[in-house]
Amino acid sequence: MNGLIPDGGTALLIDGKLVPGSAGVFPTIDPATEETLGQAANASPADMDAAIAAARRAFDETGWSRDPALRARCIRQLRDAMQAHVEELREITIAEVGAPRMLTSGPQLEGPVGDLTFAADLAESYTWSTDLGTATQMGITSRRELRREAVGVVGAITPWNFPHQINLAKLGPALAAGNTVVLKPAPDTPWCAATLGPLITEHTDIPAGVLNFVTSDDHSLGAQLVGDPRVDMITFTGSTATGRSVMAGGAPTIKRTFLELGGKSAAVVLDDADLGAAVSFTAFSVVVHAGQGCALTTRLLVPRARYDDAVAAARATLGALPPGDPNNPGTICGPLISARQRDRVEGYLAGARADGADILIGGGRPTDRERGFFVEPTLIGGVANTATIAQEEIFGPVLVIIPHDGDADAIRLANESPYGLSGAVWGTDPDRIERVVAGVRTGTLGVNGGLWYHADAPFGGYKQSGIGREMGVAGFEEYLETKLVAYPA
Ligand code: NAD
Repeated sequence: MNGLIPDGGTALLIDGKLVPGSAGVFPTIDPATEETLGQAANASPADMDAAIAAARRAFDETGWSRDPALRARCIRQLRDAMQAHVEELREITIAEVGAPRMLTSGPQLEGPVGDLTFAADLAESYTWSTDLGTATQMGITSRRELRREAVGVVGAITPWNFPHQINLAKLGPALAAGNTVVLKPAPDTPWCAATLGPLITEHTDIPAGVLNFVTSDDHSLGAQLVGDPRVDMITFTGSTATGRSVMAGGAPTIKRTFLELGGKSAAVVLDDADLGAAVSFTAFSVVVHAGQGCALTTRLLVPRARYDDAVAAARATLGALPPGDPNNPGTICGPLISARQRDRVEGYLAGARADGADILIGGGRPTDRERGFFVEPTLIGGVANTATIAQEEIFGPVLVIIPHDGDADAIRLANESPYGLSGAVWGTDPDRIERVVAGVRTGTLGVNGGLWYHADAPFGGYKQSGIGREMGVAGFEEYLETKLVAYPA
């Protein structure tokens, strides 16, 4: 298929070497065609053990954690190598993730590759040590120095929906901060990580053991990474259910856990908003990449008096965005990642029907696609905010529309969720907008279409959407320890 795959697709990266998986290989599937693209290396527990040992040795026995200039250079080399091979990576990403082509010039590929610059620059510019001055306690006057140091060995566990974005938003800052890393990518998208192995060994000075990739079709290798006492920190993105297992699995070793989890975010439309703009924007965003985004606003809260107009506008937008071939530059809504994920989405739709919900558009498989894991853009109405379809993350192109009875009610409904990842508010009066911004408990919020996603903008969740922040300086500092040193003054 393309030049990166013969070496990269079927190799693990352990201790600076590309090696086969001890458990053989496993297939990676094109979700738009259901065809097997090829094979990925299948790691065994022994391979994971070797990767952790390599990362531990590289952290403990090399100067990596004390050499920010080397780290900045290596991260830029990785960025440059990915940019030099961006067209091959683009084809892999479209084929393996089912990512619409147009997204690969943004968050599915080129965006996060470019964002490695932010991590490299931080390695050079960050203030690693601060003089706290002198203080006297019990008659002893001391000069205090505050240092920031790498946490150590980081285990990174990632999902399949935006594999490059999530892999690189962890690797860049973790490496910049001086850690060594074992990455366990999702079983559905092994090539997006594995194809970087040869780029790293051939085009970067990243020392052996500093960065290790362990692909596997076995989720238990993630649990192994979480439980291993040689690993100092887990950075995890995935479902809230798995996040709970990660927290529990890390508890015996009091592991630092950084969790980016699920969401069920609300778009709050106030009665003075441009309803057409608010509804179209929200409906469009729920369809992008078939709704497989954790921060999408999948609950649309509209003024009760304008509910029918909002339904009409949402139907118009969703009806104009049918699922299509992700290779096509005009496609917004590609396939879901797998048959399992499509079953899950269809299970939620069947449950909503059984609960008496109105399926206002969509609700099935597109009739013009015989193969591929496609689901029609779907609008659900006639349900309370407490219904399962309005409370649980669907991870498909499904928008739930719910009426509200004024600003306070809209804030209450937005917060009536176990999640708190993102959200939006649409309106005209700045004071009313500000009350919603202040009242909704989420990690990111867009006002009237404002986009918060950027390399310098921390992203993460309140409540059961996670712990910690990814990206920005805050995301970098997740990978640092704090050491306070006192000297006699
Ligand atoms: P998932 O939780 O099933 O799997 C994520 C990763 O965890 C995979 O690599 C998997 O192999 C691994 N894993 C599974 N069980 C494990 C265990 N017991 N211990 C350790 N690792 C384990 O998630 P998914 O289905 O791959 O991805 C979709 C989910 O990810 C959605 O819920 C979505 O909201 C979430 N997500 C969150 C963000 C965010 O930043 N908040 C971003 C993207 C996706």
